[in-house]
Amino acid sequence: MSQLYTRVALIGLGLIAGSMSLAMRRAGLAGEVVGYARSPQTRDVAREIGLCDHIADDLASAVAGADLVVLCVPVGAMEAVAREMAPHLATGATISDVGSVKRAVIDAVAPHLPNGVDFIPAHPLAGTEHSGPRSGFAELFDNRYVLLTPEADSNPDAVARLRALWEGCGAKVEEMDADHHDLVLAVTSHTPHLIAYTMVGVADDLRRVTDSEVIKYSAAGFRDFTRIAASDPTMWRDVFLSNKDATLEILGRFTEELFALQRAIRRGDGDHLHAYFTRTRAIRRGIIEAGQDTDAPDFGRIARKKD
Ligand code: NAP
Repeated sequence: MSQLYTRVALIGLGLIAGSMSLAMRRAGLAGEVVGYARSPQTRDVAREIGLCDHIADDLASAVAGADLVVLCVPVGAMEAVAREMAPHLATGATISDVGSVKRAVIDAVAPHLPNGVDFIPAHPLAGTEHSGPRSGFAELFDNRYVLLTPEADSNPDAVARLRALWEGCGAKVEEMDADHHDLVLAVTSHTPHLIAYTMVGVADDLRRVTDSEVIKYSAAGFRDFTRIAASDPTMWRDVFLSNKDATLEILGRFTEELFALQRAIRRGDGDHLHAYFTRTRAIRRGIIEAGQDTDAPDFGRIARKKD
């Protein structure tokens, strides 16, 4: 694949930025990748492992001359970063982000951007529970979806170039309205994370009663919850604070379903439980058929690379 941008600036050097840098390098998509993170420790690690072609020591010089700037910081940090970098952006640059929530990021970032740049928000539906500059890997986006949420007046050429970049990183790209994105992700990602956090919290309370049995005898169901609940606390705090309405809507529906299942268990209504579990099993089959997971036993733990 040929070079799409001359100079890409990645702001924030964690799992997603690191994986983007390595995936862009793999396919030769950028002339140069410049990285910047707020802490000297993260910048030092990034330099040590050669994560980008160059690590800048300040935000202004990181974005100067970049024809693509991607914000890879937690959703709650996007506004401050946008405000600070705005005066230093090159005319004609594309600004994007990888935040897990889209409407709140658009509201936080767009007002600070100068005329003459294109803002194309994006969200790669790929991740692991690991974070930081050492956690990235080039294959993270292979065969995963990236959702772009351009506005109606977005520059189509800028959208097409960003799409090509993500496709070059191995992803499948689709476009979606930002509000719709937030509702879909509340169902597929945000609420499930909250449920995992809750279940692990309940088990932790119980652990105090049963000593360490919860850890020692942890079965696959609980182990998978703990993997999700090990995700970065800052990132997930920001997701819930900025996708409040959609998450509360889905949580309300979840609670209703939970009560219905609770009642079926109390009444010994096996038909209800069996029919319900048959329906949910079909969803799992659909995900495997769509190539978004493997049907290897134990969630393909042995077969998979890093997550
Ligand atoms: P990460 O590994 O925790 O890295 C976050 C980076 O942001 C770090 O370099 C950190 O800098 C920087 N940062 C944190 N707080 C900041 C602040 N207040 N101001 C400036 N910089 C700050 O995070 P990640 O997993 O790559 O996530 C980055 C973004 O991608 C988030 O918006 C998240 O919602 C989104 N996302 C994540 C996943 C996932 O599964 N992880 C998937 C899709 C999208 P220091 O190291 O210097 O503290």
